[in-house]
Amino acid sequence: MHGLFARQSMKTVAIFGGTFDPIHNGHLQSALELKRQLQLDEVRLLPCHRPPHRDTPSCSSSQRLDMVQLAVTDTDLIVDEREMLRPGLSYSIDTLKQYRHELGNDVSLCWIMGTDAFAQFDQWHRWQDFLSLAHIIVISRPGAKLPVVGPLAELAAQYQCSDENELQVRPNGSVLFLTLQPYPISATGIRSAIASNQSVERFLPTAVLNYIHVHQLYQ
Ligand code: ATP
Repeated sequence: MHGLFARQSMKTVAIFGGTFDPIHNGHLQSALELKRQLQLDEVRLLPCHRPPHRDTPSCSSSQRLDMVQLAVTDTDLIVDEREMLRPGLSYSIDTLKQYRHELGNDVSLCWIMGTDAFAQFDQWHRWQDFLSLAHIIVISRPGAKLPVVGPLAELAAQYQCSDENELQVRPNGSVLFLTLQPYPISATGIRSAIASNQSVERFLPTAVLNYIHVHQLYQ
């Protein structure tokens, strides 16, 4: 075969990191939709143990991990506990380096984040090194805007790919912006709704909701 068709697609592993305090349907539905749409081989949900760029989460790491595990039951998403096992602040770049080392250079590795996270990405530790290890997939998030000037706008202009298939023919180096179905849900909104006794049923998987009730979280 010649031309484009001769290009083999690589195994593609995508990592969706988050505080998941708690995990909600916005995370889950976005991850599932992305997996389906891009035909990703694996999507790994990676709960962050000690987030470097935000306040300490309300729940313990092990409770957040429990909720992520409950949430993926009956899905083909994978939970990755590695940051829970690493002492110190959970720098994503260290995690990416570890993945790349494990997977070798013939696997496409994608780091998923919402537009709100991408808008602050230039505050992340060694953010300029990300694309040498992985692609970045930025998924739309209701209410969050992409930077139009500054280093992140420049990063996007230089590395943005228009073709989703590009993620599967190279192991790293592209930024893909994707508009998915909007899920106007945030963990902050869920925490404050629970604290003021409002119903959050439609935002969370039932097993996560039950866990929150049993452990009396976010009250
Ligand atoms: P919080 O309100 O506590 O900041 P959150 O709802 O933003 O929490 P995080 O665990 O901080 O959840 O988010 C992990 C990742 O998921 C981030 O990259 C974020 O942009 C993305 N994300 C969170 N909620 C959504 C959503 N509703 N739609 C798309 N992406 C989302």
